[in-house]
Amino acid sequence: MSPACAASMTRRRIIGTAVMAGMFASVCRSRQAVAQANGLFSLPALPYPENALAPVISSTTIGFHYGKHHRAYVDNLNKAVQGSELANKSLEEIVKTTAADPKRVGIFNNAAQDWNHTFYWNSMRPSGGGMPNGAIADHIKDSFGDYAKFRQEFTDAAVTQFGSGWAWLVQDQGNKLKVLKTANADTPMARGMNCLLTCDVWEHAYYLDYQYRRPDYVNAWLDKLVNWEFASQRLAS
Ligand code: FE
Repeated sequence: MSPACAASMTRRRIIGTAVMAGMFASVCRSRQAVAQANGLFSLPALPYPENALAPVISSTTIGFHYGKHHRAYVDNLNKAVQGSELANKSLEEIVKTTAADPKRVGIFNNAAQDWNHTFYWNSMRPSGGGMPNGAIADHIKDSFGDYAKFRQEFTDAAVTQFGSGWAWLVQDQGNKLKVLKTANADTPMARGMNCLLTCDVWEHAYYLDYQYRRPDYVNAWLDKLVNWEFASQRLAS
């Protein structure tokens, strides 16, 4: 199936079929309603209070990351597309349309960062983390051998991404799960992959809490925050 999250982020269009349940769809539906009312993209509500991930990620970090950085991507995207031929496209369409266009790097960066951040907030939950259960656990075993091997691969991707970027768990067209890393605003969604989880490794995601210790942030993210229920909901059968 096409990425359900992207479908639910469609702007100015009613989602014809329920493609997924859960927080991400709920957030995006409410966001869509706001967008439809004012003709602009809006900053989606966080799926939890700003202090809900503390002490792993502090409310100060979330306050800046969500309230300043994510908001800036949304505001910049609105300025960039207003009055253009992109104005009536969904967020996913804007990302895919501009991904390979060197003349529209600025639009791509802000649109992709908006999408990536909404996906990141939903990739975490209070009291999350640890090993997955159910179908997603079976997929992890089939694709990586066991959870430990997945964990090592994901940690390596997140820690070795040079500079700013993202670590991802995706499901490829052959149904296998893969770990990827992308730089800056780049996103596997732009290439049609079904994203299951992402960890933001830009310094703004962890520096106030962990300073230079990105590995500590990534380990804590996996052990205490990762939202396996969200990944499960996104699995394509
Ligand atoms: Fe970020």
